[in-house]
Amino acid sequence: MTTFYHSTRSDSETVTSKQAILAGIAPDGGLYVSDDAVRNKLDLRAVCQEGYHQIARRVLGTLLPDFTEQEVASCVEAAYADNFDTPAVTPLSPLGTDWLLELYHGPTCAFKDVALQMLPRLMSVARKGEGRNVMIVTATSGDTGKAALAGFAGVPGTGVTVFYPDGKVSDVQHLQMVTQTGDNVAVCGIKGTFDDAQTQVKRIFADRDLAGRLAAQNVMLSSANSINVGRLVPQVTYYFSAYAQLVRTGAIVIGDEVDFCVPTGNFGDVLAGYYAKLLGLPVGKLVVASNSNKVLTDFLTTGTYDRRRDFVKTISPSMDILVSSNLERMLYYLTDGDCEAVATYMADLAQKGCYTISKDLLAKLRQTFDCGFATDDETRQTIRDTWEKDHVLIDTHTAVARHVLGRFAPEGRRRVCLSTASPYKFSADVLAALGTDVSGLDGFACMDRLQALTGVAAPAQLSGLRDAPVLHADVCDMDGMTAFVEGSCNRIFA
Ligand SMILES: *Cc1c(COP(=O)(O)O)cnc(C)c1O
Repeated sequence: MTTFYHSTRSDSETVTSKQAILAGIAPDGGLYVSDDAVRNKLDLRAVCQEGYHQIARRVLGTLLPDFTEQEVASCVEAAYADNFDTPAVTPLSPLGTDWLLELYHGPTCAFKDVALQMLPRLMSVARKGEGRNVMIVTATSGDTGKAALAGFAGVPGTGVTVFYPDGKVSDVQHLQMVTQTGDNVAVCGIKGTFDDAQTQVKRIFADRDLAGRLAAQNVMLSSANSINVGRLVPQVTYYFSAYAQLVRTGAIVIGDEVDFCVPTGNFGDVLAGYYAKLLGLPVGKLVVASNSNKVLTDFLTTGTYDRRRDFVKTISPSMDILVSSNLERMLYYLTDGDCEAVATYMADLAQKGCYTISKDLLAKLRQTFDCGFATDDETRQTIRDTWEKDHVLIDTHTAVARHVLGRFAPEGRRRVCLSTASPYKFSADVLAALGTDVSGLDGFACMDRLQALTGVAAPAQLSGLRDAPVLHADVCDMDGMTAFVEGSCNRIFA
């Protein structure tokens, strides 16, 4: 069996991609990386003639080689055939002189669907050798929870339990979660903040007594966090798909380099672009765009990663992150696989709150990565300009990327801006950016106004929520979370 994933912090133990997907994180706290998979190049000429499903099969087959062709094909079919509102899955559209890669056509209208529609199918296949049922436990500040619920709902051998901070998510986000259908889903509000929920979920994962009781019932806990290989790999597909679409529209010829600008939080999405480059995609620059939590802009400018700063709550909340977990994988590749160096950086980050890479390494990093950030005001201005000048409606996260991209003069290469959410997911902030006073308007009123103002249709996945029955009314305090997880396991896997 091909075992070629190992921890970023040590290469003494290797695992198959199935094992890596089930475990999520390596036992030493590192992230799973592969040396071999990325030595294979995809056949670009063939890719450029293929549709999304075929490209996905190629990418997954290369990066997850212990899955059989048949297994990969059935996962791709199950994830992408009916759950996206366009056959292109991630269509490319013009944006001024650049291009917009629309990643928000899935069931929850955010790019996380591309990975979270796939991860559950991969887990379901991976657990077959293992036999146990898998319960996913997630704390969410809003977006991830719904994407995980929608992805895992109805997938055999899996269940999902989501905790959200009661009263601290938007109306639409709340309804998205509490209306989720499926026999294997559980949703619970908690009396506390997202951080409280996250802390308690970590305790649940570390609770040996609980693990023992669940093992006796043939159940293991796992996470759908973006550090899972099974979330990273599906994202590589849309970089190739974007390139194929550019070739087919005649915007480029095969071999031309393309730049990608990525609104970044945990560094997962942009890292997938780097994997695409390793697999032979002609990538010029990968531009890392941040909001005011600009820890990555500073890192890519100075070589010092420093999380010791105030956390800023912005209008692009899915990028409000100070520790970009997936950067650890980039450090591994940057140091040519120096696990010891990576372990030292990560220990420094945990203990001192910062680490610094050498000038040479920074220069090497900058050969591929550019960076920049946008404040909330700049983000609003960009939403407005993009609507007025280009007649394209973009959400707050996409606007961060567009702003940053606008700061660079095109160097003769085509440029693709990744669009990570439907503007209707953040209706209030988008509407306000266009100049409407939104005080007193709830989420659906903002959606209606935005639609009336722009004529851009709200996605049915969101507008349909107002009539959907509420199926999950549980709210517990922090101490009740373990019992809730255990109760869900008993109910779902009985
Ligand atoms: C999660 C998310 C991001 C950030 O993606 P990372 O992979 O964490 O860098 C950007 N935009 C939206 C809408 C998201 O949900």
